[in-house]
Amino acid sequence: MLATIYTGSRPSQQQGSSQEQDKITVVASFYPLYEFASRVGGDRAEVSSLVPAGVEPHDWEPTPQDRQRVQSASMLVINSAGFESWADDMEANIVVNTSEGIELEHDDEGEGEEEDNDEHGHEGGVNPHIWLDPVLAKHQVEKIRDAMVSADPANANYYMEDADRFAAELDSLDAFIELELADCGKSDFVAFHDAFAHFAERYGLTQHSIHGASPEGEILPQRMQEIIELASELDINVIYSEDLIDSRLADTIAGEIPDGRVLVLSPIEGIDREEQQAGIGYIDKMKENVADLKVGLECRQQQ
Ligand SMILES: [Zn+2]
Repeated sequence: MLATIYTGSRPSQQQGSSQEQDKITVVASFYPLYEFASRVGGDRAEVSSLVPAGVEPHDWEPTPQDRQRVQSASMLVINSAGFESWADDMEANIVVNTSEGIELEHDDEGEGEEEDNDEHGHEGGVNPHIWLDPVLAKHQVEKIRDAMVSADPANANYYMEDADRFAAELDSLDAFIELELADCGKSDFVAFHDAFAHFAERYGLTQHSIHGASPEGEILPQRMQEIIELASELDINVIYSEDLIDSRLADTIAGEIPDGRVLVLSPIEGIDREEQQAGIGYIDKMKENVADLKVGLECRQQQ
């Protein structure tokens, strides 16, 4: 269970509780980092998310109040790798860059690409969706742990134990995914946007996507036609939609494919309030993704 409620807004200050005042205040940029920071910080950290629950973070921009909130917090936790373009001029006591140290490949397959963007339009030419690979997510957790330990050394053991516990869950998740996807009829899938590149690389799959870097924006009829042809070439009949966007585009494409259907593959870029109240988090969402992916990839049930 998460230590604080993910509303995106700053949790109310408890009055007269010295314990509350002793807590480190952590502002995470968007959902997965909010959960990772909450898991590591436990009762010793007051964690909030800048991007509110249920809001797609790609095109999100901070308000002046958000900037103030970050300034007064002990630390700002970001994904970086081009995901939070607004973070560059954000004033913060400490900025925890959770992708620092991860070797991210520049995607240079595209032809005639823009200077700083790859074929999918990722800023800086790297795909930022590292949290969808549990092994890379573990690295993010370690960066958060190190930052909390140095900000609050008196509670170092506490943060280290919490981080170890969560890292063990991520290891189990990695093993679970490996096993679940061990025996599949297909290895290609069509995601809604280019969020599963690192996931696909980790598990030996090939991701195709309707949208590029962000799930929002216009899709030209030509692109839709390309996806329909690709699906027919690869004998794909599942088109994946997402949880925070309108599924009509995916529905339209699936309607043009023999036996076409739409399932959801969540990029876990946000969790809505209902899910949160039901106690659903990152690991549950990853397992839901795997279950839906197994349908599209025609995987055999594991014992
Ligand atoms: Zn994304």
